Amino acid sequence: MVIKREKTEKKYMHYPTVEDKSTEAHKEWEPWVHKGLWAIKGYQVVRGPSGGGTVEEALKRKPKDFMVIDRASAALYSHSYGLVSPFFRGLLDGKLKGTKCPKCGTVYCPPRAHCWNPKCAVAETEWLDLPLKGVIHTFTIQCLAASPFANMLPFSMGYVKVEGADTTLPMFLHIDPKEIFIGQKVEIKFAPKEKRKGELMDLYAVAVPSQKVPEWSCLHKNPRDMEMLQESMKKTLEWVKKRYGIDNSPEVRGW
Ligand SMILES: [Zn+2]
Repeated sequence: MVIKREKTEKKYMHYPTVEDKSTEAHKEWEPWVHKGLWAIKGYQVVRGPSGGGTVEEALKRKPKDFMVIDRASAALYSHSYGLVSPFFRGLLDGKLKGTKCPKCGTVYCPPRAHCWNPKCAVAETEWLDLPLKGVIHTFTIQCLAASPFANMLPFSMGYVKVEGADTTLPMFLHIDPKEIFIGQKVEIKFAPKEKRKGELMDLYAVAVPSQKVPEWSCLHKNPRDMEMLQESMKKTLEWVKKRYGIDNSPEVRGW
């Protein structure tokens, strides 16, 4: 079904909308976009202290007048996923899609719209469905993160080589950090449908049960490394509990 856009929406007016799950933010932002986001809207002049040293020292000096301008600097980013849009729409449907070069046969996941093999001269790739299983190529255990992700700590991310693909896809590993190893077989899962946003955070990997940890496993071959991991995890879990009031321990999360 083709939905007719509202009159206020100017940006994509020349293109029919096939599906619209955009937010009210579009309506709120539209007037700002047309006013010019960086235009100065007004100013104030305030009198205040200046100079170095302590605040007390600055307050003793003769105050100066400062001009303060009002300028909107927030932004709504509307990105296009371009030719790899089918991959992200697939995530919404709980499907993992990759692309295959018709010339050299390389399978890309994450997808590439054109083959990177120089011999293929940017040949356009073809879409295919991939199985929801793979192998951990490499991983990291996060005990520190930027503020938007801090309440999820500690967490692990891995590059997973999806079965049938020649490249690796980054994703969350819902596996107890003490049990992760390179070469571990995983099953790829999706967040509940109503929570998916069409982004990589919609999927995660869980370990296929009853796998033997190899002797060379980086976290298992040296007991000191495992000790350090457990110390970091303990401190991180305590901090998250204090800061956000939540218990993120693997047992509670069911990892
Ligand atoms: Zn190719």
